[in-house]
Amino acid sequence: MKKIIFGILSLFMSLNALVASQDESNLTFCQECTPPEKRFTITNFEALPKIRILDTSNNQSIAIRRYESNGISYYLVVDPQTLETRQLPVSQIHSSYGTASTELLTRYEENLIIESDPTDIGNQGVKCSNNRLKGVFLTIDMCQSRKEFEKLLFQRLSERESPISVGIAMTGLWAERNLPGIFNHAQEFSYLRSLNRHGKLKITWINHSYNHPYDPEQNDFSKNFLSTPGINFQEEVLSVERMLLSYGEAPSVFFRFPGLVSSSDQINTLNELGLIPLGSNAWLEKGEIPVDGSIILIHGNSNEPGGVEKFLKLLEENSEMKFNSLLDLFK
Ligand SMILES: [Zn+2]
Repeated sequence: MKKIIFGILSLFMSLNALVASQDESNLTFCQECTPPEKRFTITNFEALPKIRILDTSNNQSIAIRRYESNGISYYLVVDPQTLETRQLPVSQIHSSYGTASTELLTRYEENLIIESDPTDIGNQGVKCSNNRLKGVFLTIDMCQSRKEFEKLLFQRLSERESPISVGIAMTGLWAERNLPGIFNHAQEFSYLRSLNRHGKLKITWINHSYNHPYDPEQNDFSKNFLSTPGINFQEEVLSVERMLLSYGEAPSVFFRFPGLVSSSDQINTLNELGLIPLGSNAWLEKGEIPVDGSIILIHGNSNEPGGVEKFLKLLEENSEMKFNSLLDLFK
């Protein structure tokens, strides 16, 4: 019996190896990116109440998380003007001076307060720029999927002479967890990080929850997605941050609700965590048409090929289309 199980396992592993080697022939891998076996170990991870700090170069930042990466203490900090996040070793901190809410609001803190209708659970948060900005904001969701990713999409995006800014909404289930019977997407995740590291794309990592719960049988959305009974919302958010940090990537201040379905409690929790909910007014698969300032939503996990097809057509017809960084949403 053991032999049979071993035989099946070997066959399964060699099939996986075959799939992997086929992938390798087509994908460029990132030598500089952290491979899964060399990931940083993130421990003692905790959310902070937005502590204002000065680093040793006298830059003001707002610390939103504290943790240890391979035993070294860090803060995850936000630049309150640019909204950029970075990992800052605690040793580079000059001083802290109170929680952010005790002093005048910075641009970052103002942007956290997103008008949302507590009675509406759909598409809350920022849906577009309100500042008549030329161009669009591209966001690509990577929910769990049993398919290979949209390779052609990422190839087309990375072909531009000046790299395109793109927000990629990442889930743990897509990036690193095996689903029964199929390989995970660790290699494709590595490929995306490779495009980022080599300046082919400018990626802002959006948090899309770790497990992205979804029950196709549940039509009452107030009990589906992250509102599924029993879901620990805060843990869903923080575990994606831990995952990204373990690969040496800084999570951004943006969160995309799975299915664009939220509750007012969850939006309040995001605000407390220092994160900004990101909706969309141009979900291409649903037939919404992007205009200047739109946040475009497509899926890069092959779950909505129709949206990707529309986007690639748009890209082809508008070779000069400007793709803004999500960090410029409030400019
Ligand atoms: Zn999703």
